[in-house]
Amino acid sequence: MKRIGLIGGMSWESTAVYYRLLNETVRAVEGPLHSADILLHSVNFAEIVEMQRAGRWDLAAEALCDSARRLERAGADCVLICTNTMHLVSAEVQAAVSIPLVDIIEETGASLASAGRRRPLLLATRYTMEHGFYADRMEASTGIRPMVPKAEDRESVHRIIFEELCAGRVLDASRRQLQAIVERGREAGADSVILGCTEIVLSLDPAAQVLPGFDSTAIHVAAASRFALGEAGQPRERKAA
Ligand code: GLU
Repeated sequence: MKRIGLIGGMSWESTAVYYRLLNETVRAVEGPLHSADILLHSVNFAEIVEMQRAGRWDLAAEALCDSARRLERAGADCVLICTNTMHLVSAEVQAAVSIPLVDIIEETGASLASAGRRRPLLLATRYTMEHGFYADRMEASTGIRPMVPKAEDRESVHRIIFEELCAGRVLDASRRQLQAIVERGREAGADSVILGCTEIVLSLDPAAQVLPGFDSTAIHVAAASRFALGEAGQPRERKAA
């Protein structure tokens, strides 16, 4: 089994989900007492949030490159950035190490493509929905360009992520708000929904939406499991819910 390096803490609420899902997968494949070989570097999210707000993606890239190098030196065989947003600097992080980076955008795009989905609605932070890096890279790798909610709904999703989910608060009212945004996406022609922030699964069940749900956290974990376990890991084809 290969060793998985996680750059986590963005936020730790979702990194905890990565840890549990990776271990559950290894147990399911290898047996009850088997667990994943993981190295985790967990950053102080507040410092990263400050860089995001200031648009200092150069500083954020430096911080994550430093994490990736630490993980490589400590013996990781691959590295995962456990957040969609920070894939804005994934090219820099990949260039900083010689181990492979398991890319959440490519993996999510591949899952959508293998399920035959063409018009996903992207729920994510404002950075991921508006900066362009996510849609451009998914389109380049799969030809699929995600739709985003209207401005007011983007604001709500962003607020729910940072003020609630990353802070450990999962509120029913916000879940209903997210569900209403998914419904409006369906009305606007979306054929699926990407849970494109690693905390959204804490609120929304991807299998219980009006559109087939693609959870970036689970997809990223499945890709890391395939890397660690070879083909015994979870298959790429994730059935649309
Ligand atoms: N975990 C979130 C994501 O997947 C948001 C936190 C961040 O800004 O990195 O984008």
